[in-house]
Amino acid sequence: MPLFEVSYIAAFTIILSFIFGTVLASFITCTAGRILAGMDWINEHSHCDTCGHQLGVFDLFPIFSYVLLKGKCRYCGAKVPIRCLLSEVLLGIVFVIVVILHGSIDAVMARNLLLAMLMMGISFCEIDGKIIHEGFITAMLAIWIGALPFVPDLKLYIADKVIACTLICGFFMTISYVRKSKGKEGLKPELIKLMAVYLLYTGLYAGIAFLAVGFLLHSLVKPFKKTIVPALSVSCLAFMCCMTDRMDTTALYGYITALADYIKVF
Ligand SMILES: [Zn+2]
Repeated sequence: MPLFEVSYIAAFTIILSFIFGTVLASFITCTAGRILAGMDWINEHSHCDTCGHQLGVFDLFPIFSYVLLKGKCRYCGAKVPIRCLLSEVLLGIVFVIVVILHGSIDAVMARNLLLAMLMMGISFCEIDGKIIHEGFITAMLAIWIGALPFVPDLKLYIADKVIACTLICGFFMTISYVRKSKGKEGLKPELIKLMAVYLLYTGLYAGIAFLAVGFLLHSLVKPFKKTIVPALSVSCLAFMCCMTDRMDTTALYGYITALADYIKVF
């Protein structure tokens, strides 16, 4: 359903996506924290990190709880990191941008929102624990597969994404192999896996562009220097939402038919 046809539906959707973003931000930052602490991240109740008191519904409202409790735990007064508030606002804004750029309410929009949430989780895991957690990568892959039935031009879509994944990851694996054979440090396998999944979302052309911009961000922009995942994630999401899916699939269709004709000759 197109987003901007009826203005009140557009306004309602935008407000709702901001709220969803803030709620899912507290869920995903909590999940990332629990993964790093080696805790059960599904069944355990939320609790204060300092006093261990179980948190109630009123402690878990995104943004409002933080502002009303002035950034402190209701039970022990311990400071709640400002990042909790910032991540909620950030994911709220990211959700709004993703929805507006997508321009219609459908399964692919929902998929992109879930990806944005997982990107935040995997980034926090790397920032805090210096690990690229494969659980997030698996979840991203599962969501990509789950959304396939809703993608237009499925065959072309899969061809483009798989070609992107094979070519670009093949390239990075070769670089990694050469570096290792010279006794230097290769690329982390988790990083290559993460790039592979991001490429499944972007396809070939946007994939090359997002990797170039992502590595540039990582090497030039100060907040992105210490870690690699946030830079790649920001860049990937930006290209994924801004490019039209037509851009690469039509061009690629030309290549595939040309290749098919070429094979038929022999
Ligand atoms: Zn407390």
